[in-house]
Amino acid sequence: MKIDILTLFPEMCGNYLSESIIGRARKSGAIEINCENIRDYTEDKHRRVDDKAYGGGTGMVMNAQPVYDCVKNVQGNESARLIYMSPQGKVLNQELVNELAQEPRLIILCGHYEGVDARVLDELEFEEISIGDYVVTGGELPALILADAVARLQKGVLPSEDAFTEESHYNRLLEEPKYTRPEIWRERAVPEVLISGHHANIEKWRSEQRERVTRKKRPDMLT
Ligand code: SAM
Repeated sequence: MKIDILTLFPEMCGNYLSESIIGRARKSGAIEINCENIRDYTEDKHRRVDDKAYGGGTGMVMNAQPVYDCVKNVQGNESARLIYMSPQGKVLNQELVNELAQEPRLIILCGHYEGVDARVLDELEFEEISIGDYVVTGGELPALILADAVARLQKGVLPSEDAFTEESHYNRLLEEPKYTRPEIWRERAVPEVLISGHHANIEKWRSEQRERVTRKKRPDMLT
């Protein structure tokens, strides 16, 4: 899978994408993620990429021209799912992440300031996706959240499929509590079954715990 993140602040994304699991996956070729600087496409002689909004109001609006040219250049002749990170979009959840993970190519546009000139979103038929019903200053964090969630489902990114299929939300339940050494910490012991070595009992405990934790923390998920 290939993901392109189009942004005015590529350094914001670069660091995150070079570290840990995603950084290693990019190096190994399990996933390709590139950041493209929209400013490189402006035709303005002062390299401006935004302007005041027609009709007034505070904040600047990103110009259509550099965004359009950036998308066209990055996309080339290949087909791609075009996504604009936006607080007005469909709210991201694991089901949508699973669907997006099947795509061979995603192009993710990050807005900034007041957002992007609506005409380029209409012209290129961008789909809008939100990370939740609140507003952050730019689309970079939302784009990284989407790219990360999709990347970890690609073959070769995590050590095995279990690493994501047994995770919270994948099967519409939350994961069971986890414990590591020492066996007793501040008089709190690890549940005995986990050190029993009895695989069937451990599996039964895990399954019961998933139900219990979901009922306690997110009862809405069970309805
Ligand atoms: N004026 C816009 C509005 O009221 O709908 C909000 C603009 S916001 C300050 C700047 C950019 O941050 C947006 O263009 C979008 O790319 C990104 N953004 C902000 N909140 C987001 C969210 N909840 N989900 C996805 N992207 C978001």
